[in-house]
Amino acid sequence: EAKARDNGGCTAFEGEMEARYLDRQKLKSDLRAAIGVGDLSVSYQPMFTPDGSRVECCEALARWTHAERGPVPPNVFIQLAEEMGLVTEVTRFVLRQACRDCLDWPGEVAVSVNLSVLDLRGDEIVAIVIEALEETGLDPARLHLEMTESCLMDEPEKVQAVLHELRKRGMTIAIDDFGTGYSSLSYLDVLPVSVIKIDRSFVHNIREDSRRFKLLLGTVNLARALELKAVVEGVETTDQLQLINEHNCADLIQGFVFAAPMPASAVRTLCEQGVRKQTAAISAEFIA
Ligand code: C2E
Ligand code: MG
Ligand code: MG
Ligand code: MG
Repeated sequence: EAKARDNGGCTAFEGEMEARYLDRQKLKSDLRAAIGVGDLSVSYQPMFTPDGSRVECCEALARWTHAERGPVPPNVFIQLAEEMGLVTEVTRFVLRQACRDCLDWPGEVAVSVNLSVLDLRGDEIVAIVIEALEETGLDPARLHLEMTESCLMDEPEKVQAVLHELRKRGMTIAIDDFGTGYSSLSYLDVLPVSVIKIDRSFVHNIREDSRRFKLLLGTVNLARALELKAVVEGVETTDQLQLINEHNCADLIQGFVFAAPMPASAVRTLCEQGVRKQTAAISAEFIA
């Protein structure tokens, strides 16, 4: 309080805001350095068939471990990278690493990389994706690209052209966090989308909230009617899993119930061993 009073009438709240701002500046410069030297890593979260017997694809998730603070959540550092105009450099890094790591997995397993709205707004993304594929020799059919609905609404004509180009070259386009944006559904008719990833907010309460569950069910049915694959995200409990399987309302499941994000080498082990027990798939990152 004394400090706040000394501060030319600055309130404690303003003081805290300032501290946060300075903190962000420091975090930003550290992030800039980390991106510059490639000091990021990538974890992978498998998407399983609903019975948990097979991994079809793994989502690449960027990781940044700060020397003093430890892991910084991707929601935080991706936004910072966007503000700094550096997110496409992060994407480039993740794409390269993901393509390289995917080559180490069985041939039927794909990898899915997140794109930022700023990647799609820029002019480089198609070239960057192609470069990562050519550099590593990964079959484009094994590369999926996921983006949120809001990415599609940003500059619709431009995005449409980019997505058609990527699709033409054999990649799969997935819509992430499906159901949380304020977009119209008509893009599903126009854009070369083949997968929707239903946001985890449609899952967490399904046992208690039957209307919520009907939204999930209806969305999966919509996807199937349009011949899209429905990935259900954020399945955490065996109870949720059971309900989903009783109603056959997922094509693929991505969630802690089967596996949390893990290093590329652990994906390989998981695929080689086969996935017999759900608990066997829970990774070190989740337990930690
Ligand atoms: P997302 O793309 O929707 O990724 C899924 C997030 O949900 C991941 O968080 C994952 O760890 C978490 N998750 C998976 N299963 C469960 C579950 O059962 N329960 C709960 N509560 N969470 C689960 P993560 O890794 O912290 O990433 C957060 C977000 O950061 C991602 O959401 C994505 O929007 C962004 N992100 C991560 N990596 C990248 C990247 O390389 N590029 C871009 N542009 N964004 C990224
Ligand atoms: Mg994603
Ligand atoms: Mg998601
Ligand atoms: Mg999400």
